[in-house]
Amino acid sequence: MTLKHPILIAGGGPVGVITALALARQGLEVRVYEAMDAVNESPRASTTHPATLEMLAGLDLLDEVVKRGLVARTFQFWDRPTGRMVAEFDHEILKDDTPYPFVVQCEQHKIAKMAIARLSAMPNAQVTFSAKAEDVKQFDDRVELTLETPQGRQTVTGSYLVGADGGRSTVRKALGIDFEGYTFPERFLVLTTPVDFNSEFGAGFRSYFSDPDEWANLFKVAGEDGSGLWRSVFPAVPGDTDEQVLSDEAVQRRLNKFFPKADPYTVTHRNIYNVHQRVAAKFREGRVFLAGDSAHVNNPIGGLGLNCGIHDAVELAALLGAVAKGDLPETTLARYDERRRPINIEYVQQQTIANKKRLEEKDNAAREANFDFLRKTAADPKAHRAFLMRTSLLESVRKQAPITAKV
Ligand SMILES: Cc1cc2nc3c(=O)[nH]c(=O)nc-3n(C[C@H](O)[C@H](O)[C@H](O)COP(=O)(O)OP(=O)(O)OC[C@H]3O[C@@H](n4cnc5c(N)ncnc54)[C@H](O)[C@@H]3O)c2cc1C
Repeated sequence: MTLKHPILIAGGGPVGVITALALARQGLEVRVYEAMDAVNESPRASTTHPATLEMLAGLDLLDEVVKRGLVARTFQFWDRPTGRMVAEFDHEILKDDTPYPFVVQCEQHKIAKMAIARLSAMPNAQVTFSAKAEDVKQFDDRVELTLETPQGRQTVTGSYLVGADGGRSTVRKALGIDFEGYTFPERFLVLTTPVDFNSEFGAGFRSYFSDPDEWANLFKVAGEDGSGLWRSVFPAVPGDTDEQVLSDEAVQRRLNKFFPKADPYTVTHRNIYNVHQRVAAKFREGRVFLAGDSAHVNNPIGGLGLNCGIHDAVELAALLGAVAKGDLPETTLARYDERRRPINIEYVQQQTIANKKRLEEKDNAAREANFDFLRKTAADPKAHRAFLMRTSLLESVRKQAPITAKV
């Protein structure tokens, strides 16, 4: 079977364009519609785990991701009040499990732009900016997507539609699918600085700081010119205004409390985000699929949200491709929701909730028990490997037969 209409994708974020690339590489016609007039460059995901690196290699993107990013083999847990490093984990222990026993710190807008550059060279793919999905209608044989564009309203027809339009997904809302879960009372503050926390303070490229008063995360990313930027993440006090959190004075005070410095910090970006743990009640309704943040959102501790979204993208594209070519019956499309939703709950929601709890724990005995667990896990090669298989999402992708397995 060849599809009568193209596959439509609402949302040109990293998940939408990776879905498009994975479909277009199979020769399928794809159309991506992005509401904004350019790729969003605000600092969000950067950590790309081994399981995702395997998928990016399958799309021929890995070399460029490594070139534009930074390889980080290890990550560290710290006790912030005492300044002790509690444990260090090394992905090299996964060398027999994956060809990529490391994480690549590559900013998400770079990955999106790479995929768009590939799509623009393919005759069967189109990416349209300034085209906002407004409404969805489904029929037995097609789906119609209404778009708001600078030229006015337009309706496009597709065989299938992927809603990759982020956490506030219009597609999800148009289908009436609940976004089950909760929003944290505190927002997360992200501060970006060129100050080198490794040479100045000995922090690794990925460092997690537990603190009953104010936990923190620290990451190094390559930056546009490759010279390196450090992103720190802190919880804001619930109820504090943007001004109270983002003013120069508040930012300098927070960074100096974290690592005191004689001169003021240069701050190249400051952002504040609402943080949620939510999963769509279903990831598919007829000819429409949800992928990435439109299907699930989580706190960023552990760097799993986009990774899981890329896994949605690659698996959905493989399944749609197999159905479009007649290799699998259309009924197998049910596998997408049956498989991706429980994986997100078990590997992404549970881990990120546990990661946050571990960093913010206030009870002294529980904090010490957490540190003991981390120390013992890092010291025991079997436990160390099992821990990283889970945190890197390798366990989630090795757990089941491929989504395109013959029944
Ligand atoms: C501070 C922070 C740090 C993070 N760090 C990590 C990390 O290290 N690793 C990780 O895996 N994840 C991380 N995440 C999560 C990650 O940023 C998201 O999971 C990721 O952006 C999801 O990609 P997406 O393409 O699904 O959605 P988005 O990136 O939100 O893209 C959705 C796109 O759809 C467009 N759109 C919206 N509505 C419409 C519409 N109606 N019509 C058409 N287009 C529309 C938007 O303009 C946008 O371009 C982090 C998040 C935050 C906030």
